Amino acid sequence: MSHSAKRIDAVIFDLDDTILDWAGLNGNFGTVNQMHAGYLYDYLATADFPLPPKDDFLQIFRNTVIEGWRVAKQTWAGVRFERVVVESLTAVNLDPSQLDMDELMQAYRWGPMPGVVPFADAEATLLALRQQGYKIGLVTNAMLPMWMRDIELAHYGLLDYFDARITSGDTGYMKPHPAIYWRAMGLLNTTPDRSVFVGDRPENDIAGANEVGMVSVLMSPDHLDIPLNGVEPHYTITRLEQLLPILAGI
Ligand SMILES: [Mg+2]
Repeated sequence: MSHSAKRIDAVIFDLDDTILDWAGLNGNFGTVNQMHAGYLYDYLATADFPLPPKDDFLQIFRNTVIEGWRVAKQTWAGVRFERVVVESLTAVNLDPSQLDMDELMQAYRWGPMPGVVPFADAEATLLALRQQGYKIGLVTNAMLPMWMRDIELAHYGLLDYFDARITSGDTGYMKPHPAIYWRAMGLLNTTPDRSVFVGDRPENDIAGANEVGMVSVLMSPDHLDIPLNGVEPHYTITRLEQLLPILAGI
C-alpha cells in the first residue's frame, strides 16, 4: 500500500510514561522540582534581591504550583511555569517586572529527571514511524514551556523525531481539552480521522483523543495500573513497538 492510500498520516504521543519511562525515577517528582526551585532562589540571592529564608520560598513555590494545577483542572486550562514564577515572586514581595524572565527561566536549570529514561523501544519505534512516512507529534500536560522539555528530548537523542511538540503550559489548555489536540493536529496539518493519539492517562490522554475523534491507543506499561473509569481506548499496548502492527491494520 502506498503512503497516500493510508488512512492514518500522523501519530501524536504523550511524553511522560508514554515515551519516557518513569519507573526508575530516583526520589520523587516533588523533591526534584524543589531542587530546581532552589536554583531559582540561589540565582535571586546571588543577584542580591531581598528574600525570605530558602525553605519559606520553596514552600511558597510548591504551594503555587499545587494551587495552579488545582485551578487548572477545573477548566482544563494549562498551568504556565512563567506565571507560577511571577506569582511566587510576588508572594515574597519581589516585583517581577524588575526581573529578566528569560534569565529566571534559565536559572531553573531544568533537565532530565534522575533515573528517567526512554522506554527501550522508543527510538526504534519512532524511527520506524518516520521511515513509514508518518508525521510525529508530542503533546504533554506540563507547566514548563516546550523549550525546557526539549532539553530532555535532546539529552535522550529523541528531539529530532518529533515534527511538532507542545506543552499545556504553552497552549493554555491541557488534555483532555479538545483545543490542545486541535493545536497539535494543526501544526502537523492533519485531522482527527487521520490521527492516532498514544498516551498513558485514560482520563487525560484517551478521553480527550476520543472526544475529538482520533484513534486512541492506551500505553499501559507494567509499572502503571491506572483505572479506566469508563474511558475506552480503541487499542491498548504495553510496549511502544506494538503500535506498528496496529497502524498497519488501520
Ligand atoms: Mg503521561
